[in-house]
Amino acid sequence: MDAELQTQIAFHLAGRKSGAETGSAAGADARPALLARHRDLTALRYDFPLVLLRDADDKGYVQCLSGIVDNVVHGLVKDDSGDRLTQHLLRLEREIRAQLAAGATGSLSALWDAAASRLTAHGDALLKDSLKRARRALKVEGELADCDQSMPRRLLKRAWSMVQDRKTHKLSDDLRRLTIGLSNILQADAARSEAGHSAAGLKASIGSGHAEVFDFAVLARVLARTSAQGGLTAGRRRRIESLLSVLKSQRFLPVPDDGQEHAAQDRCYAFAFGSCAEALAAYRERLPKALELARSIAVAELEVEGEYREAAHDALFKDFGDSNLGEEELSHFPAYLVCIPADKLQAAETDKLMEMLSAGLPAKILVQTDDLLEESTIARDGHFALGMRSKHLASMAIGLNDVYVLQSSSSNLFQFRERILKGMSYAGPALFSVYSGAGGTSGGTGSLPPYLVAAAAMESRAFPAYTYDPSAGPNWASRFHLEANSQVEVDWPVQEFSYEDENHQRVRTEPGFTFVDFVACDRRHAGHFALVPRAKWNAKMIPADDYLRRDATAAQDAVPFITLVGGDNVLQRAIVDDRLMRAALRCRESWHSLQELGGIHNSHAERLLAKETKAREEQAQQAPSAPAPQAAAPAAAPEPEEKRSPDEAYIETARCTTCNECTQINDKMFMYNENKQAYIANPDAGTYAQLVEAAETCQVAIIHPGKPRNPAEPGLPDLLKRAEAFA
Ligand code: SF4
Repeated sequence: MDAELQTQIAFHLAGRKSGAETGSAAGADARPALLARHRDLTALRYDFPLVLLRDADDKGYVQCLSGIVDNVVHGLVKDDSGDRLTQHLLRLEREIRAQLAAGATGSLSALWDAAASRLTAHGDALLKDSLKRARRALKVEGELADCDQSMPRRLLKRAWSMVQDRKTHKLSDDLRRLTIGLSNILQADAARSEAGHSAAGLKASIGSGHAEVFDFAVLARVLARTSAQGGLTAGRRRRIESLLSVLKSQRFLPVPDDGQEHAAQDRCYAFAFGSCAEALAAYRERLPKALELARSIAVAELEVEGEYREAAHDALFKDFGDSNLGEEELSHFPAYLVCIPADKLQAAETDKLMEMLSAGLPAKILVQTDDLLEESTIARDGHFALGMRSKHLASMAIGLNDVYVLQSSSSNLFQFRERILKGMSYAGPALFSVYSGAGGTSGGTGSLPPYLVAAAAMESRAFPAYTYDPSAGPNWASRFHLEANSQVEVDWPVQEFSYEDENHQRVRTEPGFTFVDFVACDRRHAGHFALVPRAKWNAKMIPADDYLRRDATAAQDAVPFITLVGGDNVLQRAIVDDRLMRAALRCRESWHSLQELGGIHNSHAERLLAKETKAREEQAQQAPSAPAPQAAAPAAAPEPEEKRSPDEAYIETARCTTCNECTQINDKMFMYNENKQAYIANPDAGTYAQLVEAAETCQVAIIHPGKPRNPAEPGLPDLLKRAEAFA
C-alpha cells in the first residue's frame, strides 16, 4: 500500500490530517457538485418568493411569483409581441428576486413597481410598454415572502387565518341571528306591556312623522281596556336577557354588522401564541366562557323557535359542562396557533405541547428547526442532532393516532400548501414540523441561501417530508404520504452530473445526493473532509453513495469521497472521515423506517411475499404430473443508451413530477407519456424562448433546451445565456 493511500485511510479512520499530504477542508465557496449549478438563485425560476394572497379564495392563499408572472403573460394578448412580453416579464421577475435577496420587503405591487422603475430608468420604450401592459393585467395582491427564517411562520399563519375566517363565519352568522331573534322577543313583549301601551310608549313607537295625526292619550285608554294581559314570564324574560348578555359580550369572535364591529374586533381574544404554555393557560382560562357561550347558543336556538320547555330543559342545561363541548362544538371556535422555535422546546414546554395534542385541543402547532447540525451535540456524543427534538415530537404525535402531522423542509412548503390547509382545517390538533435551512447564521451553513440548505436537507434524507392525516382513511396506506421526496424508492436520489475532464472530454456521471453531501454544505463540519489534489486520486477512492451501499468487507481499504465544485468551477474531491459515514448510515436507517411506514420495501410485506413464493414453488415441485414450466420469455433487451447530441433539447423524463408547468407553456412541444411524465414531443412546435422558459420554470430542473433550431429567432444571445444553466 503506498504512503498516500495510507495517509488517506488514516484520515478516513481516525480523522487525522497530514497537512502536507491532504489538503485542508473544502474551500469556503466549494459546494457539493449537484448544487454547483445554483450559485445564483436570483437567476433561477423556482417556487420562491411566495405571495401570501391578501384575498384568499378558492384558488388558495398563496401563489409563487413565477406562477403569477406566467398567468400575467398568458392573460395578455398573444400577438407578435408575445415573446417580447415574456422576456421583459422574466426580467422583471428576476429583478424582484434580486431586490428580495438584497433585503427588500413589502407587497407584490410595491416591489413590482419598484422593479419596473429600476428596469425602465434608462428609457427603453418597448420595455416600458410591456411592463405597463403587464401591470394592468396583474390581478392579485399580497405580501412577498422569500424562503427565509420567517417564511414558515408567515405562510402557516396565512393558512390558519384563512381557515379561521371560514370556520367562524357560520358561528358569527348564528350569533347575529340569535341576538336579533332574542331581541325581537323582548321588543314584542315590551310593545304589549303597560309601558308600551302608555301614551308616551305609543308615541315613541309610531315616531314623530305622524305624531300630529293621533291622540295618543285616547288611544292608550282604548288599548288599556281591550289588550290581553300576559307576555313573558319573569323567568323567561330573565333567561332571554341573560342569553343576550352572553352573546353580546362573548370575546371569541367579532360579529359583523352589529354596528360595533370594530369595537368587537378590538376586544376579541388573541389566538396566536409563542409558546404552548401560554396557549394552554389561555385555553384553560377561557374554557368556562366557551362553555357558557356554547350552552347559551343551544338555549337561544330553542328560545327563538319557542321550543324551550323549562320542565325538561332547565335540568338538562344546568349541568352543561366540559363533556358537552365535543369536537363538533369546538370546531366552530377559533383554533389556537402556536409557533415555537425547536431550540426553545425545553422539557416543560414539550410536556405542554404533548398535553395539548393528546387532549385533542383545537391547536395548530408549528415547531421550526433552524439548525439540523448542531455542533455542540456532535462534540458531546459524536452524533448529529438532525433535528431530533422536532423529529421525535412528530413521531410521538403520529403515535397518538388522531393528530395531523406534517414534516417538511421550508423549500417544499409551497408544494405542501394544500396539505398545510388540510392540517389547519382538520377538526383535531395538528403539528407542523418544519426545517427552515436558515440556521447557523454566525459562520454556520456557509454561503448557501436557506432555500438550498433546506432543499439539500430534504434531498439527502436528513429531513424528509411527509404527512400523516388521520382523516384520510383507516390505515397507513391512506394516511401516510411520503411521495413528496425525490426518488422515494431508493436510499439516495440520483441526478445526472456532467463535467469536462482534463482531456476536455464531457463526462456524464450519476452521483447520489447523500447525507454526507448535505453536511458538506456546512462549513462548521469541514473537519470531516480532506481535499485530495487531483494528482493523488486513486482507484481506492470511491464515491460516498457507492461506499454506503457496500458491506464492511467490500468497503475495506476503500476511502469514500464526495465531489465538490469550487467558485472557479473546478472539480475537487474530498475524502470523508468514518464518523460522518456512520452518521450517514444512521440517517439512511431512519429513512428506511419512513419508507416502511410509507409501504416501500415493507419488511412484513416482503416476508409474506417470500413465504408465498416459497409455498408456490414447493407446491409446484410436489405436483406429480405438473407440466414442464414454460420457458420464461426472454427479458426485453434494455434500450441502448440514447446517444444524444449536446445540441438536442431533451427532458429527463423519469424524474418528471407531472407539475404541468411545461405543458402549460406549450402542449404541442411538451407532452406526457403513458406514465404521465413529460417529454419533448416536437421541438419545432414552439420557440426556443419557450424551451428556455420551460427549463427555468421546471421545479426539478430536468428540461435541457439544447441549441436553438431557428437561427433567426429574435433574442437568441440572451436566450442562450439563460439556457447555459441547463446544459
Ligand atoms: S418536465 Fe418539469 S415542468 Fe414539465 S411537467 Fe415535468 S416536472 Fe413539470
